[in-house]
Amino acid sequence: MGKVRLKDLTFDQLTEYLCSLGLSKFRGRQVFEWLYKGVTSFDEMTNLSKDLRTQLDTLCEITSLEIVKKQVSSDGTIKYLFRLEDGETVESVLMDYKHGHPICISTQVGCNMGCKFCASTIGGKVRDLSPGEIIDQILFAQKDSGVTVSNIVLMGIGEPLDNYDSVMTFIRNANHYAGLNIGARHISVSTCGLTHGIDRLAEEDIPVTLSVSLHAPNDELRNTLMPVNKKYPIKELMKSIHSYIKKTNRRVTFEYSMIDGVNDGIEQAKELLKLTKGMLAHINLIPVNKVKGKEYSKSNPDRIEKFRTVLEQGGVTTTVRRSLGSDIEASCGQLRRENSPLKNLSE
Ligand code: SAH
Repeated sequence: MGKVRLKDLTFDQLTEYLCSLGLSKFRGRQVFEWLYKGVTSFDEMTNLSKDLRTQLDTLCEITSLEIVKKQVSSDGTIKYLFRLEDGETVESVLMDYKHGHPICISTQVGCNMGCKFCASTIGGKVRDLSPGEIIDQILFAQKDSGVTVSNIVLMGIGEPLDNYDSVMTFIRNANHYAGLNIGARHISVSTCGLTHGIDRLAEEDIPVTLSVSLHAPNDELRNTLMPVNKKYPIKELMKSIHSYIKKTNRRVTFEYSMIDGVNDGIEQAKELLKLTKGMLAHINLIPVNKVKGKEYSKSNPDRIEKFRTVLEQGGVTTTVRRSLGSDIEASCGQLRRENSPLKNLSE
């Protein structure tokens, strides 16, 4: 039997596991705290006896990531390409804001959702990440950069709600007072719109922030940009979002990538307004990032401003996302592909 990967367990599961080895309950908290301080060996757990450290080392594993590539932008954004233990790679982006350090992390190796403008989905999903592999991106980015992460966004490679259980374990450990102790409100889950996942999340009783990648205000257009819409059309999606808001009383964010001449017209702004008016919601307009091998280009600032004005005048708060790290192509998915043997397959 393989070793137990401790960062894949919740606080309660870890405590239960250690108790099953005959240890006292308080060991659970001690070990849990060390794990999320970012130790890489049991020897660093100095409040455990030498014998206990040796015992744990024979039974358990503390996973780690290797930095394959690191790009630092002139604005302070750092993009990491991490190698997982099986050789697969994922990307994470650590940002440098005046008020803190958000990190954008991956939840899967590749993605099956097929969004037409997205680099992460080229080549499909290879596998899900485990809870430990998700949190390791934060631990190793912190270790390397010396900063403490303040906010987490699950907007890297992958669809979080397509890896639901691992993502929930990760969220609970990131949120736990003895773990990373990051407030649930500072954790954003972004989805392309898997309604069953949104419905489940509403029942979790953990006030994370939900972001929905909408990108189009009607099924006809959304079907062409996001194949997932054929399975979960806008009407159904909005129904789940409405019940999510009702249940949690949390504001939902809609992500809307502005693609030149595709979804950025006044008519579409009006349709989007109709869809979101009166909701406890916020819209984020994001000039689409250029992806090698994809033909989409970003809307010009003037068009974005006109689009935004329609929404604002209709009473829906709308911001245009500042693009950080554009000199290092900080949007996720591109670095992994550049370093992948699959690189030339779809170019
Ligand atoms: N699968 C999840 C989270 C990962 S994608 C989701 O779909 O929300 C994170 C965000 O980046 C999504 O809003 C996605 O639509 C957006 N995105 C993907 N490719 C992009 C690109 N080339 N330019 C701008 N945003 C992009």
